[in-house]
Order: sequence, then structure tokens, then C-alpha cells
Amino acid sequence: MIATKGYAAQSATEPLSPFNFERRELRPHDIQIEIMYCGVCHSDLHTARGEWGATIYPCVPGHEIVGRITNVGNHVTKFKVGELAGVGCLVDSCRECTNCMQGLEQFCLNGATFTYNSPDKVDNINTYGGYSNQIVTDESFVLHISDRLPLEGVAPLLCAGITTYSPLRYWKVGNGHKVAVLGLGGLGHMAVKFAASFGAEVTMLSTSPSKEADARRLGAHHFALTKDPEQVKKLSNYFDFIIDTVSAPHDYNMYLHMLRTNGVMICVGAPPAPAQIPAFNLIGNRRSIGGSLIGGLPETQEMLDYCAEHGITSDVEVIKMDYINEAYERMLKGDVRYRFVIDMATL
Ligand code: NAP
Ligand code: ZN
Ligand code: ZN
Repeated sequence: MIATKGYAAQSATEPLSPFNFERRELRPHDIQIEIMYCGVCHSDLHTARGEWGATIYPCVPGHEIVGRITNVGNHVTKFKVGELAGVGCLVDSCRECTNCMQGLEQFCLNGATFTYNSPDKVDNINTYGGYSNQIVTDESFVLHISDRLPLEGVAPLLCAGITTYSPLRYWKVGNGHKVAVLGLGGLGHMAVKFAASFGAEVTMLSTSPSKEADARRLGAHHFALTKDPEQVKKLSNYFDFIIDTVSAPHDYNMYLHMLRTNGVMICVGAPPAPAQIPAFNLIGNRRSIGGSLIGGLPETQEMLDYCAEHGITSDVEVIKMDYINEAYERMLKGDVRYRFVIDMATL
């Protein structure tokens, strides 16, 4: 076994603290990666604090992982020692169901294995994520990372990036579309960058007046403060799409009214409490509400390649590992510009 250092939550109510554990010896198709940077996703916080239920403790979060390959199994063909590599939210799936066959491993009909808080398909041991100095993962779930972009800004692409890129591509968002991004955090700032890059007119819907200048710098054409009823009213029946990235319970109906006929609200934010939506708010303008979960492996590589080509990275605040609990508190207050990324050299 491979001795590994990390940070874990030992229960829903305790702060994260240092945790030593072991990674498995390499299987024939495994890759060992020395983690250089790991992004801090709001899903890490939801899981560490048991907000979605079903957290297995100790829990080592982290699924926005970039690093360098230090070892490969005997049958590895896609990667070499010394190369950069990335790991996102998925580390395995059945690889034979209809969804897996289409590269939609996140929707594996037999249950995907997530990077943390998920039983491994071979040994049934709970997976541990990227708040650690190394990871061992099957090569089919490892991404190629360009050396042209700053690595700390690339790490968040592995979750915040693909989670916003994928629905924008699925709904073919681009020229001629009016798109709102709801919530300017990790996912929200990537949604603004991608939607603008794809040619849409982008409006930032935020509760934070202090983020207006940043929203425009990131590519938003307009900014509306959702706490101001006048600004909300002006946007009635306006958008083709709203991408909702909000992490806390909120009133979906207020935003549904901003959709024009046939408009779609795309939920990627995953608040712990269920939404209350009267059918009339959908019937009225033939509006619909949908959702999207990260993205499969082929699309994640496509997104990383698109970012390398177009110079797109996440705007990050690099933190030390022992700052993680403060980072969580700041994330809860919406005070992140726009992704915390842990420098693993500080572990
Ligand atoms: P984040 O960085 O904390 O950003 C969330 C943003 O939502 C905040 O910055 C804030 O923006 C806004 N917000 C917070 N509380 C709000 C409230 N009560 N009402 C209205 N707006 C509020 O979080 P994140 O990492 O982007 O993650 C966002 C959500 O997506 C989380 O629930 C996470 O679990 C989920 N997620 C889903 C997937 C998926 O596959 N679907 C993948 C990753 C994450 P303003 O200051 O601009 O209002
Ligand atoms: Zn995430
Ligand atoms: Zn499958």
C-alpha cells in the first residue's frame, strides 16, 4: 500500500484535519499522480458536512485535481511517467451500459464511482479525494492536461468547468441566445466565461453588488442585482436560458418568470432542500426546468482542450491546506473570487 497524507472530515460537525491513509498498490491500468493543486468545490462542503446525507467518514473531499504522474501500471497505454494529468469527479463506472458506451459515465446505469465518498468497484473501499498528496486512478478516468495554462487555474475546470460547459453544449447555447447565470461563485464564473465564449448575450444575476465589475470582466454583458425587485421585474420574459448555480435553498419561481416562451432553467446548483415549483409557472410560457451533472470523460477532455485553445482558466485564490476550514466559511458567505485552490505543496 502507498502511504498518503491528506485532510479529512471525521464527522459532519468537526472541522477538516490532517489524516494519514493508504492508497492501493497500482493495478495494471492504474496511474499514480502526485497532486499539485486541488480546487475547493461547494460539493466538497455539502459532503464533508453531511448536507446531502450518506457521507461516509472519514471523508477526504476534492475532485478538481491536477498533478504529475509518478508511476504507471504494467498495462497503461495512454500516459507516461512525468506527464501532467487531471482527475475530476469520476474514477470508475461499469463501462458497458448504454450511458457509459456513449461517454456519459456520470449517468452510469450501474452506478458511477465518484472520486470521494464512493465504494471502489473492485475492493469496495471508500474512495478518498484530492485533498491529499497523491492519488491512484484507472487511466480511463484520467485527463490529459496542457502545459500551456497555469495549473492552479486549470484544476477547477475538472468540476466547475465541465459542469457548466456540458449543459451549455447540450442545449446548444450560443449566438442569438440570451443567457442568465445565477450566482457568481466557482460554477457561475465558469458559466459566464463559457457562455460568452460561445457567443451568447450573458447577464449575471447576483445577490452581491460588489461582484458587478468582476462579472463584466469575466465576460458578462449585463448585471442585475436579484435583491432589487425593480431590476428583477425588468427581466420578466427575457432569457432563453438560466443556469442556476446557487448552492443554498432559494426561490426558483422568481427566476422562472424571467424565462421567455420555451425558455429553459438549467439547474446545476444542488441545494440540500427541495424546490417548490407550482406547475403554472412552467405551463404559462411553455417553460421547462432541467438539470445537469458534471460531464463524461470524452466531454471533459473536449472542454480541457477547448480551454487550452482559447486560453480559458478559472480565476483562483490559491490557499494553503490548513486554510481549508476558513475557506469553507468564506465560501458559505459567497466570499470567493472565484475558486479556492489548495497548493498541495503546503500539505
Ligand atoms: P460557490 O462557489 O459557493 O458559489 C455559489 C454562489 O451562489 C455564491 O457565490 C453566491 O453568488 C450564490 N448564492 C449563495 N447563496 C445564495 C442564496 N441564498 N441565494 C442566492 N444566491 C446565493 O459554489 P459552487 O462551487 O459554484 O457550487 C454551486 C452549487 O453547485 C453547489 O450546490 C454545488 O454542490 C453544486 N455543484 C453541482 C454540480 C453538478 O454536477 N450539477 C457540480 C459541482 C457543484 P452571488 O454572490 O453572486 O449571489
Ligand atoms: Zn465539484
Ligand atoms: Zn455504466
